[in-house]
Amino acid sequence: MKSTMMPVQLSINHLLDRAGRYFPRHEIVSRLPDKSLERSTYGDLHRRARQVAQALRNKAGIGRGEPVATLMWNHAAHLECYFGIPAAGAVLHTLNLRLSPEDIAYIVDDAGDRALIVDDMLLPLWERVKPLLRIVPRTIVHAFTGVPVPEEYENYEDFIAGDASSYMYPEQDENEALGMCYTSGTTGRPKGVVYSHRSMMLHALTECAPDVIGLASRDRILVVVPMFHANAWAIPFAAIMVGASQIFPGPHLGGEDLLDLMESERITLALGVPTIWLMILQSLESPTRKRSLVADMRMLVGGAAVPVSLIAAFEKHGMHIVQGWGMTEMSPLGTVSALRPKHASLSTEEQYAIRALQGAAPPLVEMRLVTDDGATQPWDGVSAGEIQARGPWITGSYHNAPQDSEKFASDGWLRTGDVGVLDADGYLRIVDRSKDLIKSGGEWISSVDLENAVMGHPDVTEAAVVAVPHPKWGERPLVVIVPKSGRTVTEEQLRVFLAPYFAKWQIPDDFAFVDAIPRTSTGKFLKTALRETFKDYVSRTPS
Ligand code: ADP
Repeated sequence: MKSTMMPVQLSINHLLDRAGRYFPRHEIVSRLPDKSLERSTYGDLHRRARQVAQALRNKAGIGRGEPVATLMWNHAAHLECYFGIPAAGAVLHTLNLRLSPEDIAYIVDDAGDRALIVDDMLLPLWERVKPLLRIVPRTIVHAFTGVPVPEEYENYEDFIAGDASSYMYPEQDENEALGMCYTSGTTGRPKGVVYSHRSMMLHALTECAPDVIGLASRDRILVVVPMFHANAWAIPFAAIMVGASQIFPGPHLGGEDLLDLMESERITLALGVPTIWLMILQSLESPTRKRSLVADMRMLVGGAAVPVSLIAAFEKHGMHIVQGWGMTEMSPLGTVSALRPKHASLSTEEQYAIRALQGAAPPLVEMRLVTDDGATQPWDGVSAGEIQARGPWITGSYHNAPQDSEKFASDGWLRTGDVGVLDADGYLRIVDRSKDLIKSGGEWISSVDLENAVMGHPDVTEAAVVAVPHPKWGERPLVVIVPKSGRTVTEEQLRVFLAPYFAKWQIPDDFAFVDAIPRTSTGKFLKTALRETFKDYVSRTPS
């Protein structure tokens, strides 16, 4: 029997029209380089994104399926590009502004970007990328600082000027490309992941669901995670679906700046990686002044493991962390740590422990754990394996590298490179990235577990753990620590602190105290740099 349902194609353009029609007065707020706030609405977004689309097609001759890059901070014009580029039938390609010029050039060439929209304050970076490119895309400059655009460049406002009220979206299949992001390339060259209208619509719908992230039109969302980091976790697409207001911090990412915005803009949900929240916590706890934030503010924290101590510390301020796990290859949502009714009777500490798990997969995402020799592990909370995933918003290949067999199982499932365990309720716990696991005397030590435990010490701000070589044990953990300012902590105190949580042989003998831990381009601890810094380190564990 044939279905009688209409074969309507899923398209992000529908969300743009919907926002213009249903939420024209809902706000978009951007912090400008001079720290002033610029206010606009979804009505403005609807009009201006269509102008972007019309200009790309008519003035720049961009065709269906052609990539258009952005090199921008988080702000309203970037959101216009999020919707305007796909509305032209083209592919939104967000470039990571924290990468080296060499990496950016490689990525622009690999994607074959036809045009680029860049913030004026990032032109010095772009000028360093240009000489390295095979073909320089048509460059359009957004005057973010308010200073006139240099004459040799095309001005974004002039480019998009014109009435686009009768602009028609191209007819597209839902499987056509909508956007692309590159992986960070911590192992080898960055690789392109291409999202479709269909994948992004299903992902956005799912993010909005109450037990997933639960967005609502009354939400005011502070998008701290960069718009180039897996499309700001695709929240801009989900937020527009329900009409939630979006607040963008521009280039101002300090703890005080973000807290000011949370307070003045009455933020109900904020998104960012754990390192951002560690910094915000310090500002929040500094005695300068009491903050008056919206009661029960939520924070979606992901990109790296969330220490239970961070969850507990924010609860004291009435702020609730929700942890998400995912990756660029997964659009990025893989799991979310929400409590279930059966957890209601647990103690606060027990609930925190569940929220510190990476959580359960939402509908449409399937997961399994596979060992090195190909066996599938049971969901018993202890058997570990590589997490493999499948679903409509999980990539099945890489751009320009369809045959990357290392990253895909023979039946097509994505190999995430993360090692984890699943419990009987389907809650995932990430043990480690497989390349970060410390192999000591033939047994594993999880760098994530050690980091999270050490960061629970009251005198520690941040801690990252890497393996150092050992003649007898193979590898031993080295804990690199940033103490809280004005505080000291000794190695012996740390060992005593860790003793209840770890087996004796897992307790580290090696500690290094530093002023700061290097970060990746997306704000995670940069373990490759730590390994390099400590490459000649000699472990003190006795043989
Ligand atoms: P990058 O390589 O720049 O980190 P991604 O943002 O795609 O690129 O990173 C995905 C990886 O981040 C995951 O494979 C996992 O190792 C890690 N990750 C993401 N979220 C979490 C989390 N909640 N807990 C632990 N690890 C996480």
